[in-house]
Order: sequence, then C-alpha cells, then structure tokens
Amino acid sequence: MKHKAGIYAVTITDTKTGAWRLNRPVVSEKCTACGICAKFCPPQIIKIEDRAIIDYEYCKGCGICDSVCPFKAIAMVEEEA
Ligand code: SF4
Ligand code: SF4
Repeated sequence: MKHKAGIYAVTITDTKTGAWRLNRPVVSEKCTACGICAKFCPPQIIKIEDRAIIDYEYCKGCGICDSVCPFKAIAMVEEEA
C-alpha cells in the first residue's frame, strides 16, 4: 500500500506496539472471564477464554483494562528496561 503524507490509520497488524509499553497488565486468578476489559481495550487485543488473555505483541500498556475490571483482577507491572 502506498502511504499518503499526513496522519493516517493503519491496522493493528501493521504496528507491533508491544515494545513501546512501559507497564504490563498482568491478569490474576481473580479474573472471572466477564469480558469487560476486552470490550474497552482500544486495540482490541484481549481474548476471553477461561480468563482474559492479553496479546503482549500489541498491548500498549494504557491501563484501561485495569481501570474497568470490576474484580480488580489486572495489575499494571512496570516493564524491565
Ligand atoms: S474485566 Fe477483569 S474479570 Fe473481567 S475478563 Fe477482564 S480481567 Fe477478567
Ligand atoms: S493495557 Fe491497554 S492495550 Fe493493553 S490490554 Fe489493557 S486496555 Fe488493552
């Protein structure tokens, strides 16, 4: 695809943004697989199985999943340098 000058959107599969993350969301055993975090995750990279599964290749560490989880099942942990 030929890109035009200026701001444009790309699909998330074009942009592996995991390496930019400062904080990593870690899902604990408190997760009930309710799916709320997956609905709010901006890049839509949380899958719900027996618990929330985060794709760290694309997770930006924004913390929205942590903020919206009603069970406090996600902890934001600082990434090691
Ligand atoms: S919102 Fe919390 S409890 Fe619900 S699926 Fe996500 S991590 Fe699990
Ligand atoms: S930290 Fe942000 S990008 Fe990463 S899984 Fe949570 S809501 Fe999605």
